[in-house]
Formats: sequence, structure tokens, C-alpha cells
Amino acid sequence: MTGHILNLSNIEYRWPGRAPFTLTVPALTVFKGETVLLLGESGSGKSTLLSLICGTIQPDQGILNVAGKNITHLSSGARDRFRAERIGVIFQQFNLLPFGSVMDNILLPLRFAPERRIRAGDAATEAKSLCAALGLPDDIIHAKANALSVGQQQRVAVARALIGQPPLIIADEPTSALDATSQSAFLDLLFSQTRAHETSLLMVSHDRRLGERFDRVIRMEEIAAVEREA
Ligand code: ADP
Ligand code: MG
Repeated sequence: MTGHILNLSNIEYRWPGRAPFTLTVPALTVFKGETVLLLGESGSGKSTLLSLICGTIQPDQGILNVAGKNITHLSSGARDRFRAERIGVIFQQFNLLPFGSVMDNILLPLRFAPERRIRAGDAATEAKSLCAALGLPDDIIHAKANALSVGQQQRVAVARALIGQPPLIIADEPTSALDATSQSAFLDLLFSQTRAHETSLLMVSHDRRLGERFDRVIRMEEIAAVEREA
């Protein structure tokens, strides 16, 4: 493990609204190849922090270094391209294209990421081998996403995040809908892939029992301060 995949300093972000929410993160570092679980209560700003790291929102103050690049002042289009190239994102609801096939869904991030597409090589073959590695049956590749079970959707979401080997995977409560056994199986799959490629993983949860599986556990209240104005 050398160097960092994530380095945030003096971050401040404020959601406007009737009860404005301000998130402050003085410092956060994640090392290359490290798996980190970020724990915190609902409403503590976990998803907001992930959105800052993914570049879907931009901090009001501070510096964000992600996967070797200072993304703080990039335009929104440049941040979108950067995310597609360098970050595999797994959302809580998986966000699959319901009418797209499994193949369409897995290949989606490559459309906006020419370098990642090159790393994926023969992308269709890569998609199939990821499916196999994740225990999905061969014939599922042409099925529509909305015909899949929840467990299958999850695996497709993982394959989509992993294709083209982005150096960083960000996962926002991907196991919250699962029972304990399925949670554990999900983490087995995810870790088997991240360990094989020295991929860094930052995963959010409010379930502290998952902590022992990760290299490091960070609590939201240790790294961040929040302020709510009434
Ligand atoms: P967590 O993921 O830890 O549950 P969030 O980051 O989703 O927390 O939300 C933290 C707070 O940020 C919320 O209580 C809300 O006030 C505010 N917030 C989150 N998303 C938005 C949004 N899209 N617009 C305005 N405020 C938001
Ligand atoms: Mg959240």
C-alpha cells in the first residue's frame, strides 16, 4: 500500500433549504488498495460526503484529491468524465437501467470513459467473465434488468462498478436491503474482486457488524462535523 487514493482537506459543503445542512470534513485519507467502512447514523451526511468524492457536487471550501487528481475546481462535465474513468459507483438502489439488458448495464460506464474502455479490453468478454466470477448464470447476460432478483441486480451493480478496473469503488449502503447471510455473501464477492486488483473501496453503512471485514472502520462523527440551522 503506497500513496493515497483519496485525500480530502478542510472540506465544507452546505445543502441549501429550509433547514440548511452544513458538512465539514477537516481531513480524510484512504490509501491505495485499502478497504474502508464508513459508519454513521442516518442523516449524518454519509451520502453527501460520497457525492463530494464522486464529484456530483462541489465543495464550497477545501481540496479534494481523488485517484491522483485534484478535482476541486473541475467543471461539472470534467468531473462527470473523471468519475466515469476512475470510480466504480454502487448505489443503494443499484440504479440499473430497468429496460436495458445485463450486458447494457455492465457496459454503461465505459460509454463515457474511453481510457476505462481500453482497460476493459474486449468489453463484452470482460462483462461475461465478471458475471461468471460473481456467480451469475451465463444466459442472464441478455436478460432485462427489471426481470432480475434483487440478489442478481446487486451482482450486476458490482460488475458494472468493477468493469475496466477503476482504482476506486464507492458503495453507498449496498447491503441495506439484505439479510445477514446475503450481506456476507455480497461482501465476499466484492472483496474477492477488489483484493485481486488492489482496488480501493470506500463503503458506507449504518451496520457496524460489517466492520471486521474491512481494513479500517471510520465513524462519521470522528471525521466530520455537521450543523443544522432550524
Ligand atoms: P446520510 O447518507 O448519512 O443518511 P445524507 O448525506 O443523505 O445523510 O443527508 C444529510 C443531510 O443533508 C440531510 O438531513 C438533508 O438535510 C441534507 N440533504 C441531503 N441531500 C440533500 C439534497 N439533495 N438537497 C438538500 N438537502 C439535502
Ligand atoms: Mg445516505
